[in-house]
Amino acid sequence: MLQIAYSPVYRLRLPEGHRFPMLKYELIYEQLLYEGTCTEANFFAPAPVDDRLVLGVHTPDYVHALKTQTVDPKMVRRIGFPLTPELIEREWIITQGTIDCTQKAKQDGVAMNVAGGTHHAYPDRGEGFCMLNDVGVAAHYLLETGQVKQILVIDLDVHQGNGTAVMFQHEPRVFTFSMHGRDNYPLKKEQSDLDVELPTGTADELYLNTLYDTLPALITRVQPDFLFFVSGVDVLESDRLGKLGVGREGCKQRDRFVFELAHRHNLPVVVSMGGGYSPRLTDIVEAHCNTFRVASELYF
Ligand SMILES: [Zn+2]
Repeated sequence: MLQIAYSPVYRLRLPEGHRFPMLKYELIYEQLLYEGTCTEANFFAPAPVDDRLVLGVHTPDYVHALKTQTVDPKMVRRIGFPLTPELIEREWIITQGTIDCTQKAKQDGVAMNVAGGTHHAYPDRGEGFCMLNDVGVAAHYLLETGQVKQILVIDLDVHQGNGTAVMFQHEPRVFTFSMHGRDNYPLKKEQSDLDVELPTGTADELYLNTLYDTLPALITRVQPDFLFFVSGVDVLESDRLGKLGVGREGCKQRDRFVFELAHRHNLPVVVSMGGGYSPRLTDIVEAHCNTFRVASELYF
């Protein structure tokens, strides 16, 4: 059975008119139940992550500032959310969700988090709606506990996984691959182990062919024994931040390709959702739900 990390706290109350589509988390959960892709039994609610694990990749000063709500106001603006105890609690819970998913993926081949993919979180700072780097914390946990030897992060969110790139720049056991829009935020890109930049307007054919040309060869080269997949749907042409032109079907084919490859190579994969900012919530929710549908069909 597909195991999915989700908690009602994933949907945080934000000030009226805030630009982040927080409602999507609840809607994805409800849609998957409504259509019968999932039942309640598929979902589990994570507890907040232990600070010790967070400190594996984040600096003590930064973690302390988050927990005591004393983050520099400039950084708070860069993060983009009003900093509240609920927001911090939510971030700690989502991060544990990704860690829990690593254990479930080892059993079942795949496990998914209805949030996370907060790849703009650096060791010592947050930005772009990201505070803790859930994939970073979980990857570090797997390595520290000797559960895996080589991790490949497949970050297909339309924005570069800049925080993750820096977090593991000196850690060869975590290979960071980011395929993203060249002209998107962050304008100053970091260096991942492999960056593939796509021009503005990139549509299905170029998008998928680039992935087909890159990912299988990367698996051969890196020889990972564990995968993280950041499945952002801000690659959609409807996205107001993404600048690419990928259709909903193309996005679904992308997800299927990643899962088929993981499945064929017998590589456990944890999915964190990443971004999605289409003006119509249906576009976001449908594209994210496709990721869950494809995984569910292929694995179970
Ligand atoms: Zn994004």
